[in-house]
Amino acid sequence: MPSIHEAKHVTIMDIPFININREDLISFHIHPDLLYENKRFMVTANPEIVMHAREDAEYKNAIKKADYIIPDGAGIILASKIKRQPIHERIPGIEMMIHLLEYAEKMGLRCFFLGAKDTVVRKMTKNLQEKYPNLEIAGYHHGYISLDDQEIVNKIKKTRPDLIFVALGFPKQEKWIARYYEDFDKGFFMGVGGSFDIFSGEAKRAPESWIRFNLEWLYRLLKQPFRWKRILKVFQFILLVLARKKG
Ligand code: UDP
Repeated sequence: MPSIHEAKHVTIMDIPFININREDLISFHIHPDLLYENKRFMVTANPEIVMHAREDAEYKNAIKKADYIIPDGAGIILASKIKRQPIHERIPGIEMMIHLLEYAEKMGLRCFFLGAKDTVVRKMTKNLQEKYPNLEIAGYHHGYISLDDQEIVNKIKKTRPDLIFVALGFPKQEKWIARYYEDFDKGFFMGVGGSFDIFSGEAKRAPESWIRFNLEWLYRLLKQPFRWKRILKVFQFILLVLARKKG
């Protein structure tokens, strides 16, 4: 298996997505990284993230520091098909996180959770401890922190985590990881958006059938209509991909 930097990528609007199927990515890259304590940064990018990177140079630089940019969002898969460089499959961040939690429990890896409201992150860790009784929770902290807060970084470092799940929403979570990554000797860092809300029971994922038909975005729109502007970004994204293909 080639190293992650030599592995196959598909570049969509200047963002290089890894194009390896989920199983190979996990078994040949992520598991060895965790076992050898390779420091890693994973971004799960959807069309909104790609569009945001066009407007925010600091954010784009942060994303470009990632070792893995995985395709989260039906729009990314569609864009890859339009480019005639089809990406294997969508890998939702929450599913990757579930896998990592199961693996962490099995291998005795320590997890830190940074993000969401205090009540949410507390409830989530309680739920996780019930679901994964042997999971080593190194610590947790709510996500309403300043990007300049060095104290929280020191606090996290002291807990010696192997995995650091950062749920501050984008673009804050990727900026936080890119800024403090160098302060750590080890760790698998991953931005996980609204996942803590789901694990705490505050929010729900779409039903299985909607996910299967790539309609998770529609479910979210129906549940949170105030997000319509974000969906608009997805359409803009597809139009741009189409325009670039012609150009
Ligand atoms: N959040 C946070 N700190 C902030 C802003 C947001 O911890 O300064 C949390 C928020 O409570 C929620 C998550 O980040 O749990 C954002 O969820 P959202 O679904 O908006 O994520 P996105 O899809 O935008 O990345």
